Amino acid sequence: MKRSNCMICGSDRLYEFIDCGDQPNGNNFLFPDQVDQEVIFSLAMMVCQDCWEVQISEFPPQEVLFCDHPYITGLNEPVVRHFRELAPRVINKVGLKPNDLVIDVGCNDGTLLKAFAANGMRVLGVDPSERPGQLARANGVTVFQQFWNHETGKSLRQLGVRPEVITATAVFYHVPDLHDFCAGLNEVMGPNSFFVVQGVNLRDLIERAEFDHFYHEHSCIHALAPLTKLFAQHGLRIQDVEFSDIHGGSFILYVCREENPKPTTAAVAEAIAAEEAAGLNRLDTYQEFAARIERNMTGLRRLLERLKAEGKTVYALGAPVKGSTVLNYAKIGPDLVEKVTEVNALKVGRVTPGTHIPVVDEKSVTERPDYYLVLAWNFIDFLVEKFDDYLTAGGRFIVSVPEVRVVGPRGEYEVV
Ligand SMILES: [Zn+2]
Repeated sequence: MKRSNCMICGSDRLYEFIDCGDQPNGNNFLFPDQVDQEVIFSLAMMVCQDCWEVQISEFPPQEVLFCDHPYITGLNEPVVRHFRELAPRVINKVGLKPNDLVIDVGCNDGTLLKAFAANGMRVLGVDPSERPGQLARANGVTVFQQFWNHETGKSLRQLGVRPEVITATAVFYHVPDLHDFCAGLNEVMGPNSFFVVQGVNLRDLIERAEFDHFYHEHSCIHALAPLTKLFAQHGLRIQDVEFSDIHGGSFILYVCREENPKPTTAAVAEAIAAEEAAGLNRLDTYQEFAARIERNMTGLRRLLERLKAEGKTVYALGAPVKGSTVLNYAKIGPDLVEKVTEVNALKVGRVTPGTHIPVVDEKSVTERPDYYLVLAWNFIDFLVEKFDDYLTAGGRFIVSVPEVRVVGPRGEYEVV
């Protein structure tokens, strides 16, 4: 059912600014003989003209999205590195002491919690998905197999769980009900507890044309201004904000109770002013954004058609969920991209959602295509380094964010 009221403020002044067409869940990699069972959902994004929260028009059932989730944090080297830095930073900033309790919501395979545990913290994971949870347990992390919401927070409080820090990295924009999530926080947060939330920053997404953060798992994409309104309704406030380049531009918010003695830093007001300056509170910003995406995707398709006509081989490097949005939007199938190479065994041997390009094990590919379409453009620097030999030998990468580019050695690129 199409959303008729804003997730944060309840307003009915929702404006749909981009329609990415009907698409399957971008993480649902089927075997070739299962594709007739593929389930399609509409994928369109709206913005609230009162609080300016960007949100999905129709959010599929949560169980469809997260209970059989193939993403494994530990396979993602840049993210693992980022978490190793993040844990000590949070510990210093919040002033955690040895044996303080850290809960990670959406803990996946426990990568972040392992980094906290290595720094002397007690840790607990909360995650609804089966397979990553098993990996976390194998890593020695206790996992409560649940979605985070009011009910879960209440159950943990009844068990006497009082965390000093609750982290949620790349999680807080996957939830169907933000108020229910905050109510859960309120159950367990003490007077000095912090909710440390990392998420894709709407301002970066808009400025850098990163529309492929729009996929069914993302119920919304946050900016600070609307979040301030959300947290205020729960007696919470954003005490500080930091920015990170991870995932194409993210924020890390430090959220505490209103009455926490730590004053709100100037960085929070500065970030909100920067959002206004970027036009996040104006409709034309979103209309121009959608037009830019249409141009980029048309350009990408034309480039691939031209390469095919020239007899070039094109593979895709990696099959991240965001890539599914691009492939489906631009209608790129095996006729234009022969195969996708992947490191994640849960995707190998299957086909890409909706576009049905075969996914093969990266290690099994010995031949070198003329071009690799890099769908995980957010890790382009990492990949340019990793594939230096390939690029130096004349191979090229194609990316479509923030515009269609052909990338060569040392990351030098040409706009197409
Ligand atoms: Zn609103």
